[in-house]
Amino acid sequence: MKLSVSKLFSKNSTLEKGANDSVVTVQKQEEKINSKEKGENSSDEMLECPKCKQTFKKIDVKENMNVCMACGYHYVVSADRRIRLLVDQGSFRPLKCKVAFSNPLSYPDYEQKIKSLQEKTGLEEAVYTGVGKIDGYDTVIAVMSSKFLMGSMGMAVGEKVTNAFEYADKKKLPIIVFAASGGARMQEGIMSLMQMAKTSAAVEKFNRNGGLYIAVLTHPTTGGVTASFATLGDITLAEPGALIGFAGPRVIEQTIGQKLPEGFQRSEFQQEHGFVDQIVPRDKMRDTLAHILRLHCKRGK
Ligand SMILES: [Zn+2]
Repeated sequence: MKLSVSKLFSKNSTLEKGANDSVVTVQKQEEKINSKEKGENSSDEMLECPKCKQTFKKIDVKENMNVCMACGYHYVVSADRRIRLLVDQGSFRPLKCKVAFSNPLSYPDYEQKIKSLQEKTGLEEAVYTGVGKIDGYDTVIAVMSSKFLMGSMGMAVGEKVTNAFEYADKKKLPIIVFAASGGARMQEGIMSLMQMAKTSAAVEKFNRNGGLYIAVLTHPTTGGVTASFATLGDITLAEPGALIGFAGPRVIEQTIGQKLPEGFQRSEFQQEHGFVDQIVPRDKMRDTLAHILRLHCKRGK
């Protein structure tokens, strides 16, 4: 089934291309869940859970919010589906923040790659921002997509994230960011690293003006995104089993010459070590966020 972001959310949508509902993934098993081969009969297609190895109908897993029915393994979910699972129906509209493409290092084939990803995903960049209601509370929402160059942060992502915080600040709304990223975008070199300072400054200004920022760390949240806005939330939530860290475990092991403990850099480990406030399964995410908004927001309903 082909889904269109613009049709799903709002007539005012700035996105015109259809967004397919495929799940982006860092693991091959995850890719299978939403594969759309021509002629595929998705109702019969089976999917083996990478964690518990049990097999379920793909369509059933999809209907279960992309979560394994046996062990609760959380498959990656696309940005548009994430929003649909979260907001009050029909309440979401994208923020208008056009970003011009630039290729500061003249990186070969970079523009072509971006164009092809835009067509494939229906997203303009690796983060999708908008405003919607959660249980009646107006909220700015930014969702990163690991499908778009591994959710890497270049100038466009930096600008869109900053714009979302500035909009939330101006309108005195809370902001929720669903982080998912492989880190800084190597194609933009030093310019991508500067986005860490830019987005962090936007969070700081928002914070100083008393805004509520809830960060939700999803699989995977790493690199420059972890080291900037993703971990600057007033409240930090995480999905179960998400990889959350800066450098990957292999790099750390090689650097320190030691074996890392089991579960290192997963949500549960990070919660145990004070990095994450609460782990929230996908089916509880909307209620949890609504509860937090109710406790903290004067405005809304
Ligand atoms: Zn499972």
